[in-house]
Amino acid sequence: MAKTPRQRPGDRAWLYYVMGGSATTLVYYAVPAEGDWLVVRIVLYCLISASAVPAIAVGLARYRPVPRLPWLIIGASQLVYAVADASFYTAHYIFEVTTFPFVADIFYIAHYPAVVAGLLLLIERRSPRRDVPNLLDASLLAVVAAMLSWLFLIEPRVRTDSPPLVTAASLAYPVLDLALFAVALRLMLGSGRRPTSFFLLAYNLLAFMAADSIYVLQQLGGTYGAGNFLDAIWLSGNIALGAAGLHPSMAVLGEPGPAKEQSLGPSRIAALTAAALVAPTMLLVQHGRGAFHDIPVIAAACAVLFLLTIARLVVMVVEQRRLAVTDVLTGLCTRRYFEAHLPQAMARCERAGRPLAVFIIDIDHFKSINDRYGHPVGDRVLVETATRLRRAVREGDVLARYGGEEFALLALDVDRAAVTGMAERLRAAVGGMPVELSTADRAWVTVSVGAAGGDGVGRSPQQLIADADRALYAAKAMGRDRVALGDELEHAPAVDRAAALQYLHAVAERVDRLLSNQPHGRPVGRWARLVCQRLGAAEATCADAELAGRLHDIGKIVLPESILAKPTALSEAEWALMRQHPDHGYRLIRAVAGMGEIAEIVREHHERLDGTGYPRGLAGTEIRFEARVIAVCDAWATMRSDRPYQSPLNTEEALRQLRDGSGGQFDPQVVDAFVELVEQGRIDELTTGSGRPLRA
Ligand code: GH3
Ligand code: MG
Ligand code: MG
Repeated sequence: MAKTPRQRPGDRAWLYYVMGGSATTLVYYAVPAEGDWLVVRIVLYCLISASAVPAIAVGLARYRPVPRLPWLIIGASQLVYAVADASFYTAHYIFEVTTFPFVADIFYIAHYPAVVAGLLLLIERRSPRRDVPNLLDASLLAVVAAMLSWLFLIEPRVRTDSPPLVTAASLAYPVLDLALFAVALRLMLGSGRRPTSFFLLAYNLLAFMAADSIYVLQQLGGTYGAGNFLDAIWLSGNIALGAAGLHPSMAVLGEPGPAKEQSLGPSRIAALTAAALVAPTMLLVQHGRGAFHDIPVIAAACAVLFLLTIARLVVMVVEQRRLAVTDVLTGLCTRRYFEAHLPQAMARCERAGRPLAVFIIDIDHFKSINDRYGHPVGDRVLVETATRLRRAVREGDVLARYGGEEFALLALDVDRAAVTGMAERLRAAVGGMPVELSTADRAWVTVSVGAAGGDGVGRSPQQLIADADRALYAAKAMGRDRVALGDELEHAPAVDRAAALQYLHAVAERVDRLLSNQPHGRPVGRWARLVCQRLGAAEATCADAELAGRLHDIGKIVLPESILAKPTALSEAEWALMRQHPDHGYRLIRAVAGMGEIAEIVREHHERLDGTGYPRGLAGTEIRFEARVIAVCDAWATMRSDRPYQSPLNTEEALRQLRDGSGGQFDPQVVDAFVELVEQGRIDELTTGSGRPLRA
């Protein structure tokens, strides 16, 4: 985006122009409107209205606006206007011609279409996106203006029985002013940059329309006198136009502004409400005056205003719905949308016998980009990655931001033979060229892709995602910047489950040691089993709860030791990392065949009953029972443990905290069961079982 040009000598010319113009206006009023002075008066008037033309020409030459055409047209229209002024005042004052319409009117009327054309070109450049809300708001205000214009300017003129030419000419002004008003509204309500030049131009339009309207009213009432206060308004409008053309910011008037949220601020609501109320108010006024012939017009205006209001509501609801399923940073769909859409798409494909595949794409070593260049650059990389992926997928496919630096794609009509090709295409789309991080720095960003599907076989949506996710983890493990297929993993030699489990236990042990000199996972597992038994759960559930409890924190193995053993509170960034541990744990466990359910439980152990937990913000019974049990046991173990940043709470205080969290953070029935177990002395201390602290 071009910046407003740096201040150069002469850039204050517009200010001197305004001061000179204002002073000349004062002189104009000081000169008597009689005798030879008349000529001076006319010259002064025409000088001001014509001066805007060279002012715009100087601006054009000096600041080279892009695009040039709107300013050229506006300048030309002002030239026509100045000719009109010159012929009107000369005829009026010197030759005392009062014929209406007269030659001047041809020029006056001709200048309108030119201004409208110039403004429309400008608007098109300033607001290239279709902004329906602003268009509707502008229409609402324009309808009110049209109604008022009809009631007070047009209709009274139609009723006078003047010769047709007179009627036509005097109708032309309010009608053309109305057109100008509609365009001015579009300019003022639409997006685009708003430098000083914008406000000067807006003032010019408003001044002209106000003065024109008062002029017609005075004409109708027979109170118009040439040289009255209206001249000051017209002249100030001309000066504002010249100043708008001379101001350095005229060069950027055609630039789109920053994308604004289409929000309905309080001032706009107030303005729209006031405007919409004008119509019923007019109805009452006319009723009071007994002027019933206007009722149909006002009623029609009311109806149109009503329809426009409804349309505005509809547009707003549609926009809100779109925002709810759109990721703010990348503009892709949200994970929520993806997960809601997947089952439907799968069902539809199954019925139609069409293949479908799911891809999970994760940026490699993204954390190091953040660490090295900072979060804003990281965000830019995310946006660029999203753009490249979007270009690589077909219309109709669903591409979502699935996590921080993770994307998910649901692709239709991708069969088994095509899955690898598609995955490779995604990988190449991102990794094929470097990302500009700053003007000096660029980096090659790569992604790993996990794929699953490509066949019509009945698999649940959760399974399909889990398969793709497992494949992604395999791709990472194989060295990153590659693709892996979930289905191939199924046929790969099975990992020795016993050995894998032993490994997971070892990892859990290590995490415990890193965190504190007391055990954590083991007691949590033991207690989880006790709680499940007390609540009458089946043995399989109890066993799952115990194992998941034992392993619940193993995802922390991925976190730096500096965070795990930090003696003080974590920073915001460290917390963000910390909150990923349920996901990391999920993936580690998921890699072992048959451990899918345990992995899911571990992933959910920081969810909260009221939906404010992480990583997914699940609520109530969306959270697995075992995870709800582990949440309470985990909290208890943490409260009772000696950590670098806290000393253990005593039993009463810890019980009080559990009860406080019941219903919000914790499942009440689990809390009740746990409290009973504590009171019965069945919840033992944090020991390895042999009573030894871990690091003794
Ligand atoms: P791997 O190759 O294993 O995927 O390593 P990685 O560093 O990409 O993965 P990891 O999951 O360890 O780190 C992901 C990082 O993404 C950590 C987190 O701070 C960052 N992140 C998540 N969301 C955003 C975001 O919206 N903007 C930025 N800038 N960073 C984010
Ligand atoms: Mg990553
Ligand atoms: Mg990741």
